[in-house]
Order: sequence, then structure tokens, then C-alpha cells
Amino acid sequence: MKHCPSCKKIKEINEFHKNKTRYDGLQTHCKNCLSERRKKYNIENKDLVLSKRKIYRQNRKDKDSLLNHNLRRRNPAKYLLKYAMRRSKESGLEFSLSLKDIQIPDRCPILNIPLFVSKGRPSDNSPSIDRIDNTRGYIPGNIIVCSWKANSVKNDTDIILLEEYLDKYLNI
Ligand SMILES: [Zn+2]
Repeated sequence: MKHCPSCKKIKEINEFHKNKTRYDGLQTHCKNCLSERRKKYNIENKDLVLSKRKIYRQNRKDKDSLLNHNLRRRNPAKYLLKYAMRRSKESGLEFSLSLKDIQIPDRCPILNIPLFVSKGRPSDNSPSIDRIDNTRGYIPGNIIVCSWKANSVKNDTDIILLEEYLDKYLNI
């Protein structure tokens, strides 16, 4: 049992957070009092707390995008895999790809333009994963790596047109 100087109650040991720097290995004030104090602080310093949170989130976002940018250049296949995984989670699609399923060809199999990783933002020539059958997920045999441009063309044109492209270039 331990006395909390804030609420002036004697409480069970598990009512206190651990703190290795204290002689008894516990925080001085009980969990409840600390959480009340934090709530009060957050309300009284609302603007400061919000701006700190905003800075923290922005920093994390910057770090994320830098990491992704580096990965995109260093290991484009891994980058594509990572994004496919994220998209499949977002849209509830099946995902069973592994790195070996992501083969980036020299040229886009649909538009026959060269594929390469551009500096900065992805360009028309950036590799992207496209699902052949949109009703199925990111599974081996249902994806091709084509250009961003082909992917966006596909999004606003008829599937038949794509099939013609595929016939022409891939003989699928
Ligand atoms: Zn207390």
C-alpha cells in the first residue's frame, strides 16, 4: 500500500505507475491523480497541446514520405509491394503477393513506354501495380507492373480496350 499526496488516500501498489528512478520504483502520485492532472493540463493548455500534436504528426508524415521516397528509388519493387499491401487493406482486397511476384519490366506492357523511377513525384513512366481482374485482389497471377499512365488510362477507359492492349503486348 502507498499514500498518494494528491488525493491523500492510501492505495494499492497497482494503483501507481512504475517509475524506476524512484526509491520505491513507483510514481509519487497515483494513476488516477496523474491522469486527472494530465486532463487538466491538456484543457488549460489546449492550444499548446494541439500545436505540439500537429508538429509531431507533421514530422512523422515528413519522415514517412522521405522513407517512402528513398524506398521508391532504392527498391521500387518493395515500394510497390508495400503500396499494394496498403491499398488492399484500405479496400478489403485479398493480398498474397511477395517480392518475387513484383517483376518490373523495362517497358510498360500496355503502352510500351519505358519504365523508370523518376525523381520527386511519380511520373507517367513510374512503375505501378495493376490488377488484371478488378474483382480479385492482389494475388499472384492477377497483377502486372505497368506505367502510371497505363494505370490511369485503364481507370478511365473501357476494360475491353485494356484487353486489346493485353492481347497485343502480353498475349494473355
Ligand atoms: Zn491520488
